[in-house]
Order: sequence, then C-alpha cells, then structure tokens
Amino acid sequence: MGRIYLDYAATTPTHPDVLKAMLPYFNEDFGNPSTICSYGQEAKGEIGNARTQIANLIGSRDEEIIFTSGGTEADNFAIKGIAFANESKGNHIITSSIEHPAVLETCRFLQKNGFNISFIPVDKQGLVDPDGVRKAITKNTILISIMHANNEIGTIEPIAEISKVAKKAGVYFHTDAIQTAGHIPIDVNELGVDLLSISAHKLYGPKGIGALYIKKGTSLATFMHGGEQEQGRRAGTENVPGIVGFGKAAELIQQEIDDESKRLIYLRDLLLTGILERINHSRLNGHPTMRLPNNANISIDFAEGESMILNLDLEGICAATGSACSSRNLEPSHVLLATGLSQEQAHGSLRFSLGKWTTEDEIKRVLDVLPRIVARLRAMSPLLKNQSKI
Ligand SMILES: *Cc1c(COP(=O)(O)O)cnc(C)c1O
Repeated sequence: MGRIYLDYAATTPTHPDVLKAMLPYFNEDFGNPSTICSYGQEAKGEIGNARTQIANLIGSRDEEIIFTSGGTEADNFAIKGIAFANESKGNHIITSSIEHPAVLETCRFLQKNGFNISFIPVDKQGLVDPDGVRKAITKNTILISIMHANNEIGTIEPIAEISKVAKKAGVYFHTDAIQTAGHIPIDVNELGVDLLSISAHKLYGPKGIGALYIKKGTSLATFMHGGEQEQGRRAGTENVPGIVGFGKAAELIQQEIDDESKRLIYLRDLLLTGILERINHSRLNGHPTMRLPNNANISIDFAEGESMILNLDLEGICAATGSACSSRNLEPSHVLLATGLSQEQAHGSLRFSLGKWTTEDEIKRVLDVLPRIVARLRAMSPLLKNQSKI
C-alpha cells in the first residue's frame, strides 16, 4: 500500500510540468537578468512571463507583482513595509488572533519597536467580524492585516467586507492569501485589498519563492536593500528557476480551479461526515460552509493529537495536528484556542488537507484506519478513566 499524503496545507509536491519548466534555468539558461547580454535578457523575459501568469491568477497588473523568497517574506514585507513608511501618520495596526506566525510574529516584532497592535478575536467558527475591525480602528491606525483563509481550520474570512471598512477609514489593507491562491478564485479588485501575499509551494510550485501584490500607488518601505531588482522594491538577484516554476504552477492551477475545488469538496465532505459518523465525541473545527475546499479539521475527545498522527504515520498516512507536543512550544494551537476550544480539545485535533493527487480510495482508507486508532488510544487513555459516557 502506497503512502497517503494529506498535509497539502503544509506543502505540496512540485507538479512534474513545473519541474520540467524550471530545469533549463539552472544550467542552460542560467543568465543573470540584470545583465545586458542575451543570457541575461532571456532570463529577464522569462521573469516577465511568470509575472503575467501570476498577475492573471489574482487579477492584478503585472507591475503590481513583486517576487519574494516565499510567503513569510511577503507577509513581512507587507507589514513592516507599511509600518515603516507610515510612521508619521500613526503607529496602530489591526490583525486577528488566528494569523499565521509570519504575520503574528511580525506584528509582535513591531510591538516591541513602538507600534501598537490590536489582535482582534474570532468567533467559534474562526470568523473575523468586520464590525469588530471597524470598532478597533483609531485615528492612529495605518494597517489592517487579516488572512484570506486560515491554514489550520480552513475558515475563509469576509475579506471584501473588511476591505470596505478599511477603505472607508483610509487604512491600508493586507491579506495573507497563501492558502487560497489557486484553490479558490481570487480577484484583488473584488477583494478590495492593497496588499496580498502568495507562495508557490502551496500551489504545486517550488519552495522558496513567493510574491507580494502591491496595489499601484502604495508606498512601502524597502525591506531588502541592495540592487535595483523588482522595480527597486526588492533587491537581490532573482531566483529565476523558482520564478519560472511559480509562474507555470499558477498557470496550471488556474486552468482547473473550478473542477478541482468541486472534486475536493466532495472528498473533504466524504472524509468529514465519515469521521463524525464513525467516531463518537468528534467535532468539526472551523466554519461548516465558509471553508477551504481541501481542509478537514476535527477535534476528537479523549485521544491525543500527536499519538493519532504517529499511529496514522505507521499506517502510511500523513496528516497534521494542532497539538503542541509536535512543536517546541507547549501551548496547543493558538488558532484552536482562539475559537474557544479547551486545551484538551485542542490537543485532540487533526487536520487533513487534501490536494491534487488525493483519491477516493485514500479517503476510504483513512475512514477505515482512523476509528481503530482512536478506539485503541481511548482504551489506554487516562483522560477516559473518569468518563462513564463513552
Ligand atoms: C505556508 C504559509 C505561510 C508561509 O509561507 P512560506 O512560503 O512557507 O514562507 C504563511 N501564511 C500562511 C497562511 C501559510 O499557509
């Protein structure tokens, strides 16, 4: 039995056609785009093509796309860039309590450096309330950063509504769209955002390349100092193979976005309903309908997340948990806690994230294996000793 990968939210394999498109740019066409000889000019042309492919994916103009070293850098660039360019106007930034660490930790860094950050709460389903954002705005607010969809629980935030609030107050609005780009349709104009982060390795492109959409006319403090690359906004010799791969991945995923999201919603719901039916004391995390097509996040009482993951791994199934023992920090997932889960519930969470190569047979195999693992763990669980209910 082959291994089953259900952790596409963590990273995706590079599409074979993407890899093929990248390979020549490591040796044959290795030119530095900043040089004027034909080698360099060819590389420069390819970067231009990739920029168009990415602009098409999100409905922007080509020149509004700036390549970065990944999603983390795009988030850092957006937030620090706005913060340092607008210090004279104010020092207040609004974000949510469920952001990815690339946003949360950037905001905490700014907090230590004189900025005032509001981490606004979410409801039980992980939704940010646009009215809550409105109420948090002060005369010092310069930026609002709310993610498009959450990477752990899959909740899709009401970005278009929040952007109206931001626009009305004259505040810049950034969204981390790293989980949504290529997975649900995105149009930066419909979303009404000034800045939007994306990353290639979450959409079947390579790791180490991302992009920041910067709406025309938005001034950002320079983040990476050096050469004049990327319109002088991001110095450093371009990652040409990465950029070419990112462009190709964007083009490929855009062609199948509608069919693929329908297919994934069907498989996701098969998995979700199957688990909730077969395992008592299990619950869906996140929003029942406003959620990513590929995300199934479940809390299973009286079973520890890390133990479930290790047991699934022994059966060849790779998934993720919001339980903390798998990370350095002892706290369980900040996202699950923010939705009101107790420490125990958060420790008993599993995230399955599906993707391009997920099959119905794989989902059926999980539905066969997981209930047995849970039953075995519960039989040994000290948490269960005091419970007569099960
Ligand atoms: C993966 C991810 C990031 C980080 O992107 P990298 O390219 O891995 O640096 C940021 N935000 C979200 C929501 C993500 O899922």
